[in-house]
Amino acid sequence: VIVLDDLTKEFPADPPVRALSAINLRVEKSDYVAVIGPSGSGKSTLLNTLGLLDRPTSGGYRLDGIETTALNDGARTTIRGSRIGFVFQSFHLLPHRSVLENVMLAEVYGAAPRAGRRERAMRALERVRLPHRVDFPPGRLSGGERQRAAIARALLGEPSLLLCDEPTGNLDSQNTGAVLDLFDELRAQGMTIVVITHESEVSDRAGRRVRITDGVLTEE
Ligand code: ATP
Ligand code: MG
Repeated sequence: VIVLDDLTKEFPADPPVRALSAINLRVEKSDYVAVIGPSGSGKSTLLNTLGLLDRPTSGGYRLDGIETTALNDGARTTIRGSRIGFVFQSFHLLPHRSVLENVMLAEVYGAAPRAGRRERAMRALERVRLPHRVDFPPGRLSGGERQRAAIARALLGEPSLLLCDEPTGNLDSQNTGAVLDLFDELRAQGMTIVVITHESEVSDRAGRRVRITDGVLTEE
């Protein structure tokens, strides 16, 4: 459960850039929320804040009852590794590593425990239906397979919250459909999903839509 309380994020500049302005939002377990809005409106800043990659300037962010703004960087990294999966728009897969190694290397973005990492990576790849591609380098995968590998990596720490920045931005409609089906399955298993998207195909499947305009969030 996510609770944002007057969350504000400013970037230093003269005058400061107010990327998020007093945002109040509550997201329940198993919710699927689409975040829409124009370029530069604050969507990625919101996702990075939810993913504990970025600290708000003021206001509160409670995740599963934990007030994250009060925590030091180490504690935030631990929460990121154990509760949050992040899928980046451009996959961020390492070209000279196999799919399995890419998924196992998820600690680059979090602090998932090392023990049993290979088994957990295989399990994540089975969840995204990619077990037959574990030994392939990303360069030999299709766009949809690459996106599924990136999602598998996000699932490694068995997160309860999945955050995706334009997860289907580079995919054709068939692969988009496959990713959306996967999101439905993950939700049915209790996953909370927040997705930034420009595509109505993605936002139509979400239970909720929120729009950000100039850092201000409104429920649709
Ligand atoms: P897009 O749809 O183009 O990805 P967005 O909605 O994700 O846009 P953000 O990346 O959240 O937009 O940016 C919101 C505002 O904050 C923009 O005005 C941007 O220039 C500013 N901004 C974002 N990151 C930084 C940063 N690291 N330093 C300074 N300003 C930033
Ligand atoms: Mg963005």
